[in-house]
Amino acid sequence: MLWKGRRQSDNVEDQRGQGGGLNLPRGGPGRLRIPIGGRSGGGMSLSTIIILVVLYFGLKAIGIDPLQILAGGGLVPGGGGQITDNSGEQGGGTGAPASDEMKQFVSTVLAETEDTWTGIFQAEGLTYEDPKLVLFSGQIRSACGFASSAAGPFYCPGDRKVYLDTTFFQQLDQQFGASGDFAQAYVIAHEVGHHVQNLTGILPKFNQMRQQMGEAEANHMSVQVELQADCFAGVWAHFTGQKGILEQGDMDEALNAAQQIGDDTMQKKMQGYVVPESFNHGTSQQRQTWLARGYKSGKLSDCDPFNTPI
Ligand SMILES: [Zn+2]
Repeated sequence: MLWKGRRQSDNVEDQRGQGGGLNLPRGGPGRLRIPIGGRSGGGMSLSTIIILVVLYFGLKAIGIDPLQILAGGGLVPGGGGQITDNSGEQGGGTGAPASDEMKQFVSTVLAETEDTWTGIFQAEGLTYEDPKLVLFSGQIRSACGFASSAAGPFYCPGDRKVYLDTTFFQQLDQQFGASGDFAQAYVIAHEVGHHVQNLTGILPKFNQMRQQMGEAEANHMSVQVELQADCFAGVWAHFTGQKGILEQGDMDEALNAAQQIGDDTMQKKMQGYVVPESFNHGTSQQRQTWLARGYKSGKLSDCDPFNTPI
């Protein structure tokens, strides 16, 4: 990715080396403001997708007022509500200091996601609100609770922040065989995809719904949520490609990463066998498919795993 010299986001909070700093949530849970409304253009608008998702959830959740979604979801009490993209590792790395170049890269990719999603939301008459991205090492406290670097990258809807452990990229490369800067960009874009889901009401609803579900059902819906985040990452890559800053092989790096962190591949690697009922992020093939899907068209309407066979 030709990222050097491009704009870097101011929304990166560097908490490396602080080992779990006081990272108090601003706004608190349940303050989600959903930018609903605006003009509706041709094709399937973002609002339409939201409505489809709401309908879907509504059918499955008797007794839940869908309007609650619009009023703001919030955190799941006790459940944390964070969307964790677990590395599956027990150890979290040594907390080796990451280079400033890594921070610059992360800040640049985040800036690219800001520009892209601002444009996509604007086209739908909506306002995109930038997430923060916290770089940390060791432990971190988020509005979703404590997390260690072993948890892998995650997004916390309660404080609207992406949390990225600085050793994860090394782990991605060395343990998961997913190398290349665009593999890393994909990880960031996936987490930002969860932020988009938060802004559009999908994530709050999911967090609310899964409390009333059995494990298997919750896992299935988790896969749908994750595949949509992959698809959103693909949409971002689509527009990034149009800027002419993707290099040959970049998309292959992202697709390979999606392959390496698929539930089946990870389980095979970690424990030697797979337990499909426990899948909660999607198989390697599913993750690749949805990433490629978003990348190919750049359309949000193609990112609806809630109403499309996955
Ligand atoms: Zn995820």
